[in-house]
Amino acid sequence: MNLQDPIAAIRDGILSCISKDAKVSKIEFEGPEIAIYVQNSSVITDNGDLVRSIARLIRKRIVLKSDPEIRKPEDEAKKIISQLIPRDAGLINVVFDKALGEVIIEVKKPGLVVGKDGALLRRILAETLWRPSVVRTPPVQSRIVTQVSSFIYRNSDYRYKVLKEVGRRINRPQLLRTNRVRVISLGGFLEVGRSAIMVEADGSRILLDCGVKLGSMNLSSELPELDTPEFNINELDAVVVTHAHLDHCGAVPFLFKYGYRGPVYCSKPTRMLMALLLLDYMDVAAREGREAPYDLNDVKTMLLHTIPLNYGEVTDIAPNVKLTLHNAGHILGSTMVHLHIGEGLHNIVYTGDFKFAKTKLLEASSYVFPRLETLIMESTYGAPSDVMPSREETEQNLINTVNTTLQRGGKVLIPVLSVGRAQEIMLVLAEAIDQKLIPSVPVYVEGMIQEATAIHTAYPEDLCRELKNKIFYEDQNPFLSENFITVKGRSARPEIVEGEPCVILATSGMLNAGPAIEYFKLLAENEKNCLIFVSYQVENTLGRRVQRGVKEVSIPGPNGKEELVKVNLEVKSIEGFSGHSDRRQLLRFIERVTPKPKRVIICHGEPSKSQNLAFTINKYFRIPVAVPSTLESIRLV
Ligand code: ZN
Repeated sequence: MNLQDPIAAIRDGILSCISKDAKVSKIEFEGPEIAIYVQNSSVITDNGDLVRSIARLIRKRIVLKSDPEIRKPEDEAKKIISQLIPRDAGLINVVFDKALGEVIIEVKKPGLVVGKDGALLRRILAETLWRPSVVRTPPVQSRIVTQVSSFIYRNSDYRYKVLKEVGRRINRPQLLRTNRVRVISLGGFLEVGRSAIMVEADGSRILLDCGVKLGSMNLSSELPELDTPEFNINELDAVVVTHAHLDHCGAVPFLFKYGYRGPVYCSKPTRMLMALLLLDYMDVAAREGREAPYDLNDVKTMLLHTIPLNYGEVTDIAPNVKLTLHNAGHILGSTMVHLHIGEGLHNIVYTGDFKFAKTKLLEASSYVFPRLETLIMESTYGAPSDVMPSREETEQNLINTVNTTLQRGGKVLIPVLSVGRAQEIMLVLAEAIDQKLIPSVPVYVEGMIQEATAIHTAYPEDLCRELKNKIFYEDQNPFLSENFITVKGRSARPEIVEGEPCVILATSGMLNAGPAIEYFKLLAENEKNCLIFVSYQVENTLGRRVQRGVKEVSIPGPNGKEELVKVNLEVKSIEGFSGHSDRRQLLRFIERVTPKPKRVIICHGEPSKSQNLAFTINKYFRIPVAVPSTLESIRLV
């Protein structure tokens, strides 16, 4: 292949294996895909052999599209689509993306539109010559899914330009071949928060995660070390976000504020959850009178530059780097990142946050990769004492506590994080109510949790097998249980607290913000009630003080005046619901991961935990382990 101009070489390669009858009108590099536009409609509806043979030859992702001139007019195409789609699929909307030649079909049941082996999709393509893309309308309405999707459709022309620019950069000539690979820790090493890792390989620069450290005293300790000379925003090829938690994605809009205009790769659910959590992050900052390091426009620009990928899809993200996302089992849409560098030069897996065990919500993380030399892994629960009880035991513990409280006429308050833990607890409660292990009481959830749950219902494919089967084949979606009641506004809270026995799920998980504090104030004095902590309580939070057993706390009221609250309610901490692997699961992952890595780099943990885990891995598995601090660089090749 011609090294000077790979784009021309790829074009030549494609033209050489496609017949003149196809009437190729243009070949475009659209993000990580190469789109071949043709004027002969029979080529479009061909069964995919042509695409496969071209993809095999040039080893790129290929998509065949119709030339705009031969596509059916939108009105006509819309009519055809509405006739072809079975009534049961529940057609909601048809949107045309002229720039990409796609028609987005929003339905309640995508499975019925895809048809057997995609037969119905092929028919839609054949009859309209628009490429169909089917999107699920979540059964629980999600403000974020609706707004983000329509924002992206509205800005289709801008997005088309972004994709072309990204495509051009991915396929640029590589001037220098040093065959060197380095990782540089920019944040989240020997600490938890502001995760950011730079991978530099032969002039390509990939940033893995770019998070914030919540609760920091100032902006420079909240953000990763982006002002180091190693990091030049203009040379960055791609940002990859493992999952939507703010300590992994909270600083991505900051890059856009300072001029980054490249791609952000993540899974589809991560794009939506990121939007939810970033907007909330800015809201909380505004309410607390702090300034967020970016504004809404930066988040919007980020969304237009986000390229969602499916698990297992191998994607070129730089001239010499291929990216594949694997399931991490941590929260919905969480991924492990596999980077294949050069032609077999080096392979890196970055675990992000991961859970190497199945939960009620998600499958256990992946552990088999095509190739692997360097493993960068988290160590949140890396100390020998970080061994958690089994899930069964943990769930039983929760059910028993809820039961005892309800039986004595009390109410249960469970402070939770809106994404992940909330849905996990909802599933345990729904199942327990269904099996009559606890009485059928109302379970109140507040807005943010409801919104995050709605996003979960938009991506059932990414949930664990049992849950998926329940939703798809038994038509039983536990998130739609009648027991879950969304609280409409804060004025409803006193009535809930005065009413019948119930369970309340409210954010934040550490009682340091959000409606959970309001409920706590209303419930704390009655000894019949119970507060259940299901997540770790960080030092200096109200949650930690209450967990330690204080009998009286002062909490700022709505007008800033401190209110004294007597703590008479029962306080219980249930360990074992974590979305992270515990010590045993971390070590089991190392034992099982295939192929065995030649080097391990530890990140995301308190210093003693990271070091202890490193020592154990080295001692028992005889793998060299590095525990760099932030701003260190390690040469891999
Ligand atoms: Zn996380």
